Amino acid sequence: MKKTELISIMDPQEDREGVEQAAAILKRGGLVAVPTETVYGLAADAFNPQSVKEVYFAKGRPQDNPMIVHISDLAMLPRVAKDFPEAAKKLAEAFWPGPLTMILPKVENLPDETTGGLATVAVRMPQNEVIRAIIEAADTPLAAPSANRSGSPSPTTYQHCVDDLWGLVDAIVESEDCTVGVESTVVSLLGETPLVLRPGAVTPEEIAGVCGEVKVDDAVLHLPPEDAPVLSPGMKYKHYSPAAKLRLVRGSQWDYVNYVNEVAKKAEEEGAPNGIFAMCFDEDIHHLEVPTISYGVAYDYESQARELFDVLRQLDKLGAHFVLVHAPEPEGVGLAVYNRLLRAAAFDLVEL
Ligand code: AMP
Ligand code: MG
Repeated sequence: MKKTELISIMDPQEDREGVEQAAAILKRGGLVAVPTETVYGLAADAFNPQSVKEVYFAKGRPQDNPMIVHISDLAMLPRVAKDFPEAAKKLAEAFWPGPLTMILPKVENLPDETTGGLATVAVRMPQNEVIRAIIEAADTPLAAPSANRSGSPSPTTYQHCVDDLWGLVDAIVESEDCTVGVESTVVSLLGETPLVLRPGAVTPEEIAGVCGEVKVDDAVLHLPPEDAPVLSPGMKYKHYSPAAKLRLVRGSQWDYVNYVNEVAKKAEEEGAPNGIFAMCFDEDIHHLEVPTISYGVAYDYESQARELFDVLRQLDKLGAHFVLVHAPEPEGVGLAVYNRLLRAAAFDLVEL
């Protein structure tokens, strides 16, 4: 067990001591859970292979799943990546600082541990000012995957980090809840056309608006075949899962409500009604005959993204066994929510 410290940083200008303390821990090779606008990250010095290895250990994460490297300003970019295509420059201009990660060729001396042995690096400049102040104070790019135990829902509050990582890391920064709530959009700039590997708050439409064109990788909405090359190693793992079994149900409010009530009725007739939950939209609640938990307003994909992981965590505490989730439409930011839910449900999808 490690001794874990809680460092409170609400405002990086006012809580200067906290920023310096977090930076000092990182500089001497320690692990610190830090806020970003997407989800909390478990940070280590990207150039310290031993620290990066410890991140994999603390998360229980497979070592071939590379990490996102976070920078505080554009001047830091050449320290991790080289050969910037025109599209990368345009995207940085449009969306940085913000929830967009770009895959670019890496510089030689960035350790293999950080990039999972790949010749490329995933790099992002976050919007959150606390992490940016810490990166600046540590004067090193930070490798930071989500600060959860691998497989469980990503953390969107510092309390989630405490629940998952207390005793496994050197410090957890106590700060505000994440404003976006799902991980960054990952876009590869290695080919001719920008390719979205993981959807997030920056949508494919917005990327096309800047670059003229965009493709979305098949793995975003489909389980890749076993023998297919996996462009983003994270896509092949089951993810974001509570202990309860999830089924994603896509359809109108009417179709969804009828489906859930039917399933519940059948289970009751068969004498096994306990533990069925509806993870639904605010509008669905009053029509459902099973316990409900809402994750936002229908078609308000930003609200759903913000609530998603906290609600997935609550399901276990509520004793849910089988959860029928009302799917958002896979459009705009809804695509990111849909993608996470599809993986949380291990691709169990019913389309009505
Ligand atoms: P996380 O750090 O948990 O937000 O996950 C980072 C995501 O980015 C994972 O899905 C990784 O597989 C993906 N990723 C990181 N580095 C690369 C890279 N060089 N090429 C492709 N995907 C990457
Ligand atoms: Mg993660």
